[in-house]
Amino acid sequence: MGCLMVRYAVTNCYVFDGLGNVFKGSVVVEDGLISDVGTEGSVEVPKDAEIIDMGGGYLLPGLIDAHVHLIGMRTGDFVKEPLLVPYETFVARVVKDLEELIYSGFTTVGDAGSLIAAKIKYAVNEGSVLGPRIVASGLALSPTFGHGDVHYLPIEYVDYRTTRKLVPMASLICDGVDECRKAARYALREDADFIKIMATGGVLSQKDRPEYRQFTLDEVKAIVDEARAAGRFVHAHAQGTEGIKNSILGGVKVIAHAIYIDEECIALANENEVVLVPTLSIVDKILSIGSKIGIPEWALKKADEANKEHISNIRKAYKLGAKIATGTDFCGGHLKMGDNALEIKLLVEKIGMEPKEALIAATKVAAEAVGLNHKLGTIEKGKVADLLGVVGNPLSDVGILQDRRNIKLIIKEGKIIKCF
Ligand SMILES: [Zn+2]
Repeated sequence: MGCLMVRYAVTNCYVFDGLGNVFKGSVVVEDGLISDVGTEGSVEVPKDAEIIDMGGGYLLPGLIDAHVHLIGMRTGDFVKEPLLVPYETFVARVVKDLEELIYSGFTTVGDAGSLIAAKIKYAVNEGSVLGPRIVASGLALSPTFGHGDVHYLPIEYVDYRTTRKLVPMASLICDGVDECRKAARYALREDADFIKIMATGGVLSQKDRPEYRQFTLDEVKAIVDEARAAGRFVHAHAQGTEGIKNSILGGVKVIAHAIYIDEECIALANENEVVLVPTLSIVDKILSIGSKIGIPEWALKKADEANKEHISNIRKAYKLGAKIATGTDFCGGHLKMGDNALEIKLLVEKIGMEPKEALIAATKVAAEAVGLNHKLGTIEKGKVADLLGVVGNPLSDVGILQDRRNIKLIIKEGKIIKCF
């Protein structure tokens, strides 16, 4: 954790600004903000500014993973691990995972369901824990028998308000408009920066299927109304077509997974400026290493069934101009915090994005998915100085971002976390 310079300039680099422009230039940072950026010669570097010479490397906005779960898992056994490991151990693991995230270039994460995330963010903000900025939903909302009503755990372990044992994936179970409003308010009371809902079944929930509709349109609308009233937005786990449609019509801003998104929903998403977070990484990992790390058989089967359609539907969404952001759905262990740049590579390899577009998905659009695009996600004057200096050209090969040795400079809110 390097120097504490107040005013400095990063020079001799190719700036990729997150908007799509690339130019040889400099960036001046002052009091945590980008005070100037431009081509060489057009930027006036203050005389007293210290210089960080990038030696011709690339400078990007800090990376953002818009869908993680900071719950400190170390196996893929979602059935046994939460019951056997003490809660405090999970918290300690999350501290380690946050360090992995920041050293791999992720300066912001959106946590889509973890009470640990919603609370530990204060320790990160005060500087007690090193890690990316956390934007957290805290407790997710799920209907009874929903994706968040973790069916493989005894029912008394599931709802945070009634459980006698804290488990990392505890959520709020609510049915009907009134209960949904109350649960949304409860989540806000427990530090939610946005509200996470389970709009459909899923791969990692035992007794349902991705295509099952869960919250009804009226329930979604009630939750969105509570979120809006408190200046927040809603992020939905939505895999089946009916649940995706309900979410968008109900006013949800972020659709995670979107496995069975169809053309009608893509058009609706575009009309409403909804961001899709396909989370290709989790499916990729479940299929490649799932059986070795203890992912239950029923989840492996569902992932396999969903995979092909998922890829082809997201490809269609991309071609039709949908907003797509990076999110891995990683939760620790073999779904390792620090490997999150995998999603950028999968957007290129499986969806057919240009590297530049995949980098925009991981910066500008991901900032929108966590509700911070007014403040960060691009290298522009006045934006928060979250910057990454890399050797090699990520615009020709995004894969270089998966190796943290290529990331020489990491700056979060103007603070230099790593410098060569
Ligand atoms: Zn998730």
